[in-house]
Amino acid sequence: MPLTIRTTKTTSGKTRPAPDQLGFGKYFSDHIFLADWEGEDGWKNARIEPYGSIALDPAASVLHYGQAMFEGSKAFRQADGSVALFRVDAHAKRMQRGASRLCMPALEVEDFVAAMRAFVAVEEGWVPSAPNTSLYLRPTIVATEAFLGVRPSNRYLFFTIGSPVGSYYGGDTLKPVRIWVERDYVRAARGGLGATKAGANYAASLYAAVKAKKAGFDQVLWLDAKEHAFVEEVGTMNLFVVIDGTLVTPSLSDSILAGVTRDSILTIAKEWGIKTEERAIGAAEILDARKRGKLEEVFGSGTAAVVSPVSELAFGDDRVVINDGKPGALSNRFYDEICGIQRGSKPDRHGWLTRI
Ligand SMILES: *Cc1c(COP(=O)(O)O)cnc(C)c1O
Repeated sequence: MPLTIRTTKTTSGKTRPAPDQLGFGKYFSDHIFLADWEGEDGWKNARIEPYGSIALDPAASVLHYGQAMFEGSKAFRQADGSVALFRVDAHAKRMQRGASRLCMPALEVEDFVAAMRAFVAVEEGWVPSAPNTSLYLRPTIVATEAFLGVRPSNRYLFFTIGSPVGSYYGGDTLKPVRIWVERDYVRAARGGLGATKAGANYAASLYAAVKAKKAGFDQVLWLDAKEHAFVEEVGTMNLFVVIDGTLVTPSLSDSILAGVTRDSILTIAKEWGIKTEERAIGAAEILDARKRGKLEEVFGSGTAAVVSPVSELAFGDDRVVINDGKPGALSNRFYDEICGIQRGSKPDRHGWLTRI
C-alpha cells in the first residue's frame, strides 16, 4: 500500500539566503519529511512538518552503535520555471541496498520517489534559480530503539531535509583540487561498509582528511585496504583517470560507493564514443602513465561537485602534476553535459529527470 503523507505547513517561513551566500549545506529549508518504522507495521506516520529538532531517547541505538545511513540527491530549477529531481529512482535503489547491508529497513522505491516529490513540492520556493544552484536533499535513516544490546534496532526514523546549495566552485569554471595519496589510513575494506552511505564511513575518513588538509592538500586519494596498491576513491567521490584517451574508473566492489554521477559519466562517455574501462587501477599504473606522458586527466565525481578535476597527486614526495594543473577537456565536457541535463538545457535522453 502506498504511503499516505500528512502535511503541516509552517506559519513562519525563514528568510531565504541570497544565491551568492549559499555555499554547501549551511542553510536548511522550512520543512522536514519524517516517517517511522516499527516491526510488522512497516513505515508509517509519513508526514511533512515545520523544520525542527528531533527528540531521541539517549539509549537510541544510533547514538551508540551508529546504525545510520544517508543519501544525497538534488532538485533543479528548470529553464521554464518548473522543478525536477535528477535520477531519484537510482538514489532510492541505492538506499535500499545500503540499508540491507546495515540490517535496516528502507522505503519502497515508489514511496521514496513519492516522498521526495511531496517534500520538494512543499519546498518549491526553496529551489534556487541562479546558475549552478540547486536544492540538495538529504534522506537519512537512523535506528531509534532505546536498547543497549548489540543487534539491529526494532525501530527506525526516516527523515529528509533540504538545503539550498550554491555553485560548488563559486563560479562557472571548475577549480581543480590537490590530493594526498593516503598510504596508511584506509576508508573502507573489502567486506566492510564502503559501498553504503553509512555515517560510519565518513567518521572513518576524517582523520586522514584532516592530516591531508594540515599538509596543504584538499582531500585524500584512498587506496585499497589490503595491499595499499590500488586506487579506490578520492575524498567522498568516485575516481576517474584518463590514460591515453581511455576513461578508466575502478570497478565497483563492496569498498567502493556506486555513485549515480559515476554511472551517468560512464553512460555519457559510451554515447560519445569514448573508450571506457571499469577495472582495478594500480597506483603504479598512474605513475607509469605519467612517465610515458599518457596521464591526461584525473577527476572525482559526485552529486555535490558533479566533476572535480585533480591538478596534483602527491605520492609522498613524488608530486604528479596533471594537465599542467588545469581542468582537462573531458572534465569540462562531462560537467557541462550533466549540469545541462539537470537543468533541462540539454536533452534528457535517458529519462533521468522527474518533474515535481
Ligand atoms: C556519495 C558518494 C559518492 C558519489 O555518489 P553520487 O551518487 O555520484 O553522489 C562517491 N563516493 C562516496 C564515498 C560517496 O559517499
